[in-house]
Amino acid sequence: MLDLSFEPPKPKVISGAKADWELVIGLEVHAQVASNAKLFSGASTTFGAEPNSNVAFVDAAMPGMLPVINAFCVAQAVRTGLGLKAGINLTSAFDRKNYFYPDLPQGYQISQLYHPIVGEGEVLVDMGPGVARRVRIERIHLEQDAGKSIHDMDPHMSFVDLNRTGVALMEIVSRPDIRGPEEAAAYVGKLRQIMRYLGTCDGNMQNGNLRADVNVSVCEPGAYEKYRETGDFSHLGTRCEIKNMNSMRFIQQAIEYEARRQIAIVEDGGGVVQETRLYDPDKGETRSMRSKEEAHDYRYFPCPDLLPLEIEQAWVDDIAASLPELPDEKKARFVTEFGLTEYDASVLTAEVEAAAYFEEVAQGRDGKMAANWVINELFGRLKKDDRDITESPVSPAQLGGIIDLIGRGDISGKIAKDLFEIVYTEGGDPAQIVEERGMKQVTDTGAIEKVVDEIIAANPAQVEKAKANPKLAGWFVGQVMKATGGKANPKAVNEIVSKKLG
Ligand code: ADP
Ligand code: MG
Repeated sequence: MLDLSFEPPKPKVISGAKADWELVIGLEVHAQVASNAKLFSGASTTFGAEPNSNVAFVDAAMPGMLPVINAFCVAQAVRTGLGLKAGINLTSAFDRKNYFYPDLPQGYQISQLYHPIVGEGEVLVDMGPGVARRVRIERIHLEQDAGKSIHDMDPHMSFVDLNRTGVALMEIVSRPDIRGPEEAAAYVGKLRQIMRYLGTCDGNMQNGNLRADVNVSVCEPGAYEKYRETGDFSHLGTRCEIKNMNSMRFIQQAIEYEARRQIAIVEDGGGVVQETRLYDPDKGETRSMRSKEEAHDYRYFPCPDLLPLEIEQAWVDDIAASLPELPDEKKARFVTEFGLTEYDASVLTAEVEAAAYFEEVAQGRDGKMAANWVINELFGRLKKDDRDITESPVSPAQLGGIIDLIGRGDISGKIAKDLFEIVYTEGGDPAQIVEERGMKQVTDTGAIEKVVDEIIAANPAQVEKAKANPKLAGWFVGQVMKATGGKANPKAVNEIVSKKLG
């Protein structure tokens, strides 16, 4: 059994003018399902296509068109649910959420209010080595995305692009278990990581493929614990929902601002009004958008165009059997199998491609050394060029080759860095480069002795000083390294120098 033990982080406390306050946060994350076709039509989901070119008749709500469920999108939602250790509902159903918007031709969104496809699960949100928050997932439901209204292309007109209309979204609803701005961002980051491992959402926040509605309330210390004991929400403060956030940084800023705004209201003897707000990143503040809407405002009812969705346990089992190793398990395994620190293991498992790269390098080699080279040299170098691991000019075999040369004592750690740069910029086989360019470390003590003798003979004054003060022997070591172009084995040089100086 892998050890996944951890301590919960401390909740964020904000001191108001009169008292201390704690934050309570729950997120509704909208994740676009990674799928080539939409939820109820065969239209393409390609981002950045010509406006209104990816629109099937059913997406445009032409009369008489009927939605047909895309089994692949259903499988992706099940896969996501399994990845979040959640219960899968073999029967779920679609409902119509009725509202008008110019980019919603149907006049309703097909969603799953009463019977979502995925039930309760959980996510571990890592907040540092040995520290993690267990955030409960309430549900995941499938729904359609709306189109896009464009108001800034013409001073007198608005445009509508329906390419996004009908694209499948998973709405992942958390319990209000998140206790601070950093945790909220880390939670979104963890969901993103898990879904990228699963291949169910690409996690691209800039394109809006992952966005969150952030519910924030404040309460007195101890109130949240009472809510957890009893399940009674009345122990918590009134929440506001900040809509449509697609940046980790803005999520944190918005929560911080919103919490302080609520604290000021409550300390002033007022009451927080439950409402939907928008964050303005330029001003750094949230603004009221509309009063809180309730389910009955939307006149939800079961969608008559779609039968209840029934799936078989055997199909769910097949999907479960095809899941990859997930981040928590991979991280724990890297710690035990390769002797890495939890921190290094987190860095290496952040992206599944980087983890695979590392494992290939570490295979049959010293795990810690492999981790050092991947994290410090490779990641550092890639970052300098703004490249990701899939664009690395150095292959795992090449990096492994460099590490082997160090291990065999053929090159020093310092020469290895030069060699890495050569392989990175010019390519080639590391062992052959070392051979051809005479980069091999000199371990031949006779050869080193000769250089030491020469330097001693040329510097009698330094010799006298070093004999009086052995600390000055380092100067000779430096000279020998310089004279040999860094190729002399440093350990051998040290030994020979101190022997010669007595
Ligand atoms: P609705 O469907 O009306 O938006 P839900 O009960 O489904 O309401 O909750 C939506 C989100 O708000 C959930 O993520 C939940 O965890 C969160 N939430 C509920 N109560 C609070 C609260 N007092 N403070 C912060 N978040 C809350
Ligand atoms: Mg909501």
